Amino acid sequence: METSVVVAGGGATGLVLACGLLASGIDVRVLDSADEPATTSRALGLQARGAEVLDRVGALGDLPERSIGIQRVVVSLNGEQAAVLRLGLSARGARTPGLLVSQAEIEARLRQRLGELGGKVEWGTRVDAVHQETGSVLLDTTGGAVRAQWVVGCDGAHSTVRKAAGFDFPGVPIAENFLLADVRADLPLDREAAAVWLRGEEIFAAFPLPGGVWRLMAHADASEDVAATVASLMRSRAGLDPDAVREWRWTSVFRINRRLVTDYRRQRVLLAGDAAHIHSPLGGQGMNTGMGDAENLAWRLALVAAGRAEPALLDGYQRERRPVAADVLSATSGLTGLVLGEGRFARLLRDRVLLPLVNRHVVQRMIWQRASQLKVSYAAHRFGRRPRVGDRVAQCAPDNGFRWTLTAPPGRAGEACAELAGRRLGEVDVRVRPATRASLVRPDAHLAWRGKPEELDAYLDGVLGR
Ligand SMILES: Cc1cc2nc3c(=O)[nH]c(=O)nc-3n(C[C@H](O)[C@H](O)[C@H](O)COP(=O)(O)OP(=O)(O)OC[C@H]3O[C@@H](n4cnc5c(N)ncnc54)[C@H](O)[C@@H]3O)c2cc1C
Repeated sequence: METSVVVAGGGATGLVLACGLLASGIDVRVLDSADEPATTSRALGLQARGAEVLDRVGALGDLPERSIGIQRVVVSLNGEQAAVLRLGLSARGARTPGLLVSQAEIEARLRQRLGELGGKVEWGTRVDAVHQETGSVLLDTTGGAVRAQWVVGCDGAHSTVRKAAGFDFPGVPIAENFLLADVRADLPLDREAAAVWLRGEEIFAAFPLPGGVWRLMAHADASEDVAATVASLMRSRAGLDPDAVREWRWTSVFRINRRLVTDYRRQRVLLAGDAAHIHSPLGGQGMNTGMGDAENLAWRLALVAAGRAEPALLDGYQRERRPVAADVLSATSGLTGLVLGEGRFARLLRDRVLLPLVNRHVVQRMIWQRASQLKVSYAAHRFGRRPRVGDRVAQCAPDNGFRWTLTAPPGRAGEACAELAGRRLGEVDVRVRPATRASLVRPDAHLAWRGKPEELDAYLDGVLGR
């Protein structure tokens, strides 16, 4: 039997996409090669925008209560406190501030939501090959052949879908090894702050996670025994006593690559998340960017799969999301280079110029706004009355189960506008407001259109292509 959409990969990206599609009434199968859900933390920074995405697909639940609302990043240079980046101060405009919580918890919450919407992850089902055919895609999987109208590769950095469907993924390696350890420990550190120690090219960091856990991270050569190396660096770089560690829960080594696909879509196959872009995890952007891809794609694919829009609507996915990923790639590479202080000039810049600047409120605000992803806008022009078409308007589009929101004037014109929106877009949340103009907000909380009620039809003709 043919499915409308197959999502390959049940990580954070695939799960947000599947929830968005199911909430829009599209049937979807989520296939994942792993035998069971991952239990390791991996990402720990849920940015303000990431929390909004989860909220929109109904998966935020009690995560804020179970997370650590990080207030500060405290940076020490050569053993002395050199900068305090205050994050709490800048959270204006955010419905939820940035949170520290394990990726495993976020994925568990998403799976719960997927179940509530009638979906599930089919574990132990690896996609091995992708055949584009006329009007559909045939997948070879370890569970047999699967046919779908559309396939989205959310299968991570080593994506089989990307390779099998022939997407280009140009890029470069950008740094040495990082060692990671999640430990249960009583460290003499503030649990509302991340701590970073810098000395020359040496870096060590500690991030609090819920449940008395700390994520320790060090830039160092790969080692056979990661726990032993991290323990020794704890003492030498951060002055922390490794005997304070009661349990080594997870250790890992990662190398940083920077890659971005040239195209997000090839005929009936699309990519999202790490399958489309990989970069340094410094700055906590990867999972959040993947979830942003997913919600942008979900409403478009839902309209196309339901036969309400032409496939050209999908072109806007690459047009809007590839620049966001390119920006994340360059920002995280720049941050990594600066934090690592590779080279005398970079170190001088970091120690003498940038760290003192980090203490300034205006700089803190800029950093927070960039990292939070709340400023992501798809507006075509820089100038114009705010919000511009394409701007995020999350504050005026409260959660409504991933639906379109139409604000229309009372009376006949507004009613006709609401009837039209419902007929052409599916379920629409209608709000009546005394005004002469109407506005339409996308399910991903960006302003789609603003104008006279009678102009909506022409706008939808242009966007939906039918
Ligand atoms: C140490 C570290 C720290 C990080 N910290 C942060 C952070 O703080 N904030 C942040 O936003 N990001 C962070 N990231 C990045 C983040 O972990 C990734 O960007 C995120 O996991 C991407 O999610 P995804 O769903 O796109 O891919 P993945 O999480 O890789 O999920 C892919 C899924 O696809 C499945 N799969 C693979 N191959 C196949 C196949 N052939 N068929 C079917 N299924 C398949 C896998 O089993 C997996 O479940 C960090 C990464 C690392 C390594």
